[in-house]
Amino acid sequence: MMYRALSATAVLSLLFTLPASGHGQEASMIGFSAESAAAQLELEARLDAQVNRDNLGTWMERITAKPFFVGAPHNKENAEWVRDLFEEWGYEAEIVVYQVLFPKPRIREVEMVAPTRYTAGLAEPVIPEDASSGVDGRLPSYNAYSADGDVTAELVYVNQGIPADYDELERRGIDVTGKIVIARYGGSWRGIKPKLAYERGAVATILYSDPRDDGYFQGDAYPDGPYRMQWGVQRGSVTDMPLYPGDPLTPFVGATADAERYTVEASPAIMKIPVLPLSWGDAEPLLRALGGPVAPPSWRGALPFTYHIGPGPATVRVHLEFDWNLEPAYNVIARLEGSDYPNEWVMRGNHRDGWAMGAGDPISGHVALMEEARVVGTLAQNGERPKRTIVYASWDAEEPGLLGSTEFAEHHADELREKAVAYINTDGNGRGFLRMGGSHTLERLVNQVAKEVEDPQTGVSAWERAQAQRAVAGDAEATTRSDLRISPLGSGSDYTPFLQHLGIATLNVSYGGENGGGSYHSQFDSFEHYTRFGDPGFYYGEALAKTTGRLTLRLANADVLPMRFENFSDNIGLYAGEVMELLEDTRTATNRNNELVALNAYDLASDPTKTYVAPALEDDVPFLNFAPIQNAVRRLEESSAALDVEMRRVMQTGATSAEAQALNRVLKTTERLMTNDEGLPRRPWYRHQVYAPGFHTGYGVKTLPGIREAIELRNWDEATEHIGLVADMLDRVSEALEQATRILKS
Ligand SMILES: [Zn+2]
Repeated sequence: MMYRALSATAVLSLLFTLPASGHGQEASMIGFSAESAAAQLELEARLDAQVNRDNLGTWMERITAKPFFVGAPHNKENAEWVRDLFEEWGYEAEIVVYQVLFPKPRIREVEMVAPTRYTAGLAEPVIPEDASSGVDGRLPSYNAYSADGDVTAELVYVNQGIPADYDELERRGIDVTGKIVIARYGGSWRGIKPKLAYERGAVATILYSDPRDDGYFQGDAYPDGPYRMQWGVQRGSVTDMPLYPGDPLTPFVGATADAERYTVEASPAIMKIPVLPLSWGDAEPLLRALGGPVAPPSWRGALPFTYHIGPGPATVRVHLEFDWNLEPAYNVIARLEGSDYPNEWVMRGNHRDGWAMGAGDPISGHVALMEEARVVGTLAQNGERPKRTIVYASWDAEEPGLLGSTEFAEHHADELREKAVAYINTDGNGRGFLRMGGSHTLERLVNQVAKEVEDPQTGVSAWERAQAQRAVAGDAEATTRSDLRISPLGSGSDYTPFLQHLGIATLNVSYGGENGGGSYHSQFDSFEHYTRFGDPGFYYGEALAKTTGRLTLRLANADVLPMRFENFSDNIGLYAGEVMELLEDTRTATNRNNELVALNAYDLASDPTKTYVAPALEDDVPFLNFAPIQNAVRRLEESSAALDVEMRRVMQTGATSAEAQALNRVLKTTERLMTNDEGLPRRPWYRHQVYAPGFHTGYGVKTLPGIREAIELRNWDEATEHIGLVADMLDRVSEALEQATRILKS
């Protein structure tokens, strides 16, 4: 089967793949000499032969038999069971416990008191088609780290509650001060919505799932189809994750029993106003009762009435109280010591906690990690021990805000900075296309691996399917660049502390896109739902185990760490171009705005019978000196190309072990050089200078965030300062690459 995939790839590459300039095609396995590549291919053939997808279903059924949120009895049972399995498979496994803040609701009340009365049921129904819907010990629907509160106020519909929506409200003269806002999910990380509402004076936030986004507008609703039913609720955290993830009480340090903690009141990451999620069934009467202006077309959902913005006459009471307790988070950490380089660690993780039944998120990825680990451990027991140490992590408390992984990364920061060569993350998985994100130094590696894993439905490689999807969607580069670009990472899963806080090269991979949505963080993300719609037969779980198994084993066994810097410099060049363009676009838009203001055009173009507040004049956009970055990118291109050429040459002729080790010492720390101790403005926890989640957009990535966000904030001095900092950072990387090249040339 592997031969079929390889030959199909070869044919396709003749048809489509023209190497972009500066991007040599890589015929051989990167990081491996010809001899060690042959051994590695044999090992991977054994991996493929031993991965057994029957285990995935058996394990998922067991883990998801009862709810397993943070602090639930079944969560601890799962942790112990997973640890015991790892031990059986030959790992040194332990449960590493942190004490983390995990609020659970005591009172949840949402009531419309005018113009008519409606009391939200706040309950997901038990349905005969899904046995999990009636299971004992269910966690009610809520947003973790909402504030306590009891407020009554007029309601305002704010669309997705993102900055652009508040600009629209301003045009209509609508102020949310003293109001309760209702926002539909989507468009940003959910925690941004109450944060922005609070900053604008709102007293509470209601979130809801509009059927347009993941309900009947998208397809058949559960149980007929996968999409969200009338009473399905998206739970989720609203901690200020773009400020820092992890336990809100212990930023920068591990949440050990005796750690110094913020009080709940003093924690800067906890929301300051009450927030609660509703199903569309509960949101409909509230939205229907809104008056005021008609919502703009892009704001309208799929409910059967005309959407109005308000404020009022709908008046709503939101009453929430929580038990603010510390709960134990149980990370399972399993080590397989490397035979040659025990102090170089390849880390591989997936979270194990879920909001409700958690079949799709996260157990679909977790069982693939387990099956991969079982095979890797079994191979090691049979004499195929990896050269580097492999550390598997089954994280707890990801859902409330990446708590298990972040506390571990903070607690072991020094050791991880010293030893980790890479972190590979997975989370939910499903039927569809391979999705690849991460550090661009690993772009070539994940592309090579994707070409060798078979897509279960079509028999071509996972890479060819991903390429085809991108090409059909209009991505011209998909058929001209030798590697598919991987996405830069923002936040949203456990890679964040490793990449953005510690500067460890990271990959995040999953399959998906054909599994339908609509069960996310609801009671209906169940074994029943997943096996009908997520990945029937677990074929994509098997493909994931083979993909990440290869990534883990290649990183663990490579003679020279499998990084390619031309991929990195090419992407950096792109991002540098983007921030320069952003400044120009901002200038063009500002000039146009000021021209229209001068002509009084906004007012003259608006309907005089409706309230309209025209935009104000904006300050002029200065020209900034990007030369430091342009020069640093140029140097990076040269140093990257020179090193990649040398690495290819040395791998062909065979590197001496001394050369390889000297080179690995440099390669291991290149990602570390991309961080600054001071971190980003207003959020020092985030130290990476290339990748960060958007401060006002949440999950969505901002590349070169120091520069990009300064331009967005129109803070020109800060932008200039960060142009300098990014240029220095790129020079540090270039220096390391030049040093590595000298090692190989000497
Ligand atoms: Zn997840």
